[in-house]
Amino acid sequence: MPRVEISLSQIRENTKKLSELYMQKGISLMGVTKAVLGEPSIAKAMIQGGVKFIADSRIENIQKMKSAGILNQFVLLRTPLSQAESIVKNADISLNTEIETLKNLSYHAKDQNKIHQVIIMVELGDLREGILPYDLPQFIRETLSMPHIKIIGIGCNFACYGGIKPDDKNMRELSELVDLLEKEFHIDLEIISGGNSANFEWFKSSQDVGRVNNLCLGESILLGCETVGRKVIPGLYTGAFQLIAEVIESKRKASVPLGEICQDAFGNVPSFLDRGDHQRVIIALGRQDVQVSNLKSNNNLKIIGSSSDHIILDGENHNLEVGDEIRFSLDYGGLLATMTSPFVIKQFTDSNAHVAA
Ligand SMILES: *Cc1c(COP(=O)(O)O)cnc(C)c1O
Repeated sequence: MPRVEISLSQIRENTKKLSELYMQKGISLMGVTKAVLGEPSIAKAMIQGGVKFIADSRIENIQKMKSAGILNQFVLLRTPLSQAESIVKNADISLNTEIETLKNLSYHAKDQNKIHQVIIMVELGDLREGILPYDLPQFIRETLSMPHIKIIGIGCNFACYGGIKPDDKNMRELSELVDLLEKEFHIDLEIISGGNSANFEWFKSSQDVGRVNNLCLGESILLGCETVGRKVIPGLYTGAFQLIAEVIESKRKASVPLGEICQDAFGNVPSFLDRGDHQRVIIALGRQDVQVSNLKSNNNLKIIGSSSDHIILDGENHNLEVGDEIRFSLDYGGLLATMTSPFVIKQFTDSNAHVAA
């Protein structure tokens, strides 16, 4: 079976370095676990690295981490109305943009004798979730009238859908909104979340981060890069996740298929360049597990193509035999896909070699 080898110490170190770095300008971090399906050992590594809050987009992942005995505060990043009861039960804080959903959360919070804390998301240009600044005062007013809901913060997100960069201009806009709301409603907003792993460049270059005092980081912690240009953040590990697959065939064959070309398994009509006979290697990994564009071979093996269950590599000059293992680094899409595939074993390499269920 293919496996992902996960270095918990590298994840812990990345979290520690990022926590220290961002704290230099007063920014605390939430560790985002959605890409790893709320894997409890990874959440624990983030906590050891210094994050106090664990954030995830799925309530099921939060339940899993709580069941594993993690006692930290949990933040739900995406809040479906239909899950309000479970959200109040399992998450300490949720991100919100709809009054209807808040009403449901308030109803269940009353029922469960709780105060549910919320971060209100503002739309500042990326066009994913968020309330338009113009509508924000009315939204806050209505939310403040809900006795079982407490607004603890304001947040925004960039580079998620629209690919818009966080910069001094939009971050300043967030800070100004915070000042305005605190003044108008006589409230203190504790958490001002400026975004995610895309905020790195802004953070580095900014003389003044304004009111922003929090970021939710997934990819930077897990893969060691920022996400505006996918540049490595100096001093971080980029290989905490390694995908390993097994060679199941290694043969010299033609580079152009024989016969009349029709559609492949995915409805594309492929074309080929004739490079003569060469060594072709097949590994037991396919599109059901991961897209080849998400993989980078650690020894420069060129990927020729893939189908659902096979990836074909150019094995020329690599001396690969059946049973050999091939290692790949993963990008964020690859991390998501392989962590989600039930066919890929998740193995921790440096903490008592424990294997995840
Ligand atoms: C996924 C997510 C994040 C984390 O994004 P990264 O790019 O992995 O750091 C932060 N905030 C929200 C609201 C998210 O949904």
